[in-house]
Amino acid sequence: MREKYSYMLSSLESMNIKLSGHKLKQFDDFYNMLVETNKVMNLTGITEFDEVCKLHFVDSLSIAKYVDMSGNLKVIDVGTGAGFPGIPLKIAFPNLNIVLLDSLNKRLKFLDEVIEKLGLNDEGSIETLHGRAEDYSMPKEGSLRESFDLAVSRAVANMSTLSELCLPYVKVGGQFIAYKSEKALEELERAKGAIHLLGGKLESCEEFLLPDTDVGRSLCFIYKREPTSKKYPRKAGTPAKKPLK
Ligand code: SAM
Repeated sequence: MREKYSYMLSSLESMNIKLSGHKLKQFDDFYNMLVETNKVMNLTGITEFDEVCKLHFVDSLSIAKYVDMSGNLKVIDVGTGAGFPGIPLKIAFPNLNIVLLDSLNKRLKFLDEVIEKLGLNDEGSIETLHGRAEDYSMPKEGSLRESFDLAVSRAVANMSTLSELCLPYVKVGGQFIAYKSEKALEELERAKGAIHLLGGKLESCEEFLLPDTDVGRSLCFIYKREPTSKKYPRKAGTPAKKPLK
């Protein structure tokens, strides 16, 4: 198994991530389930083994170079789709407590099978949550508002919309990290006002090429400096239709 994953292991070493044989087996089981299920359900356009390792697995784990993931952080992955970045983060850092949120239930059913097969609830916790991001963070009883240390999201919406979907979930003092392509700076500029309105502050934006590819990635780190105004998020659909300025 180590030989099969030697590329991925050396890429991860540069981020100080070491994977045991058990974790590699979990990545392997996840890969097989992803490719098999993808034959009957639209999960990913990328299925070739090396590409999945580089563009899904290593990419998902790339925040670990900048954030200490070793504690029992409460994390929400907003618009997780086929489990990115949430599942790779949970395999590499089993101590995490992760919620995988998506509005498409059939993808979450696939993820429930992955969680079961890989035994991802053996340590920390992981659960799927079906619905619109806007609905679980409304200021009402039982809401998940301001209850996470970290919100992560990849390939879901433009930065302004995404900030309205994610920042309400983050505790004051916590962080929202957006996985963006290389065009992030322009997008960030347009979302500055929205980030401020939602109680956030742009801390930094790290730009790099994913190891052994020419694919650019930007990680945008947004700090939650004060509680989000009760006006946000607006009702489901509005953040995408009318992004905050
Ligand atoms: N994050 C995954 C990745 O990087 O491969 C999936 C990206 S996919 C392009 C976008 C996902 O976001 C879809 O699964 C979609 O159902 C989900 N999504 C979009 N808007 C959402 C919302 N408002 N609430 C919950 N999920 C949403």
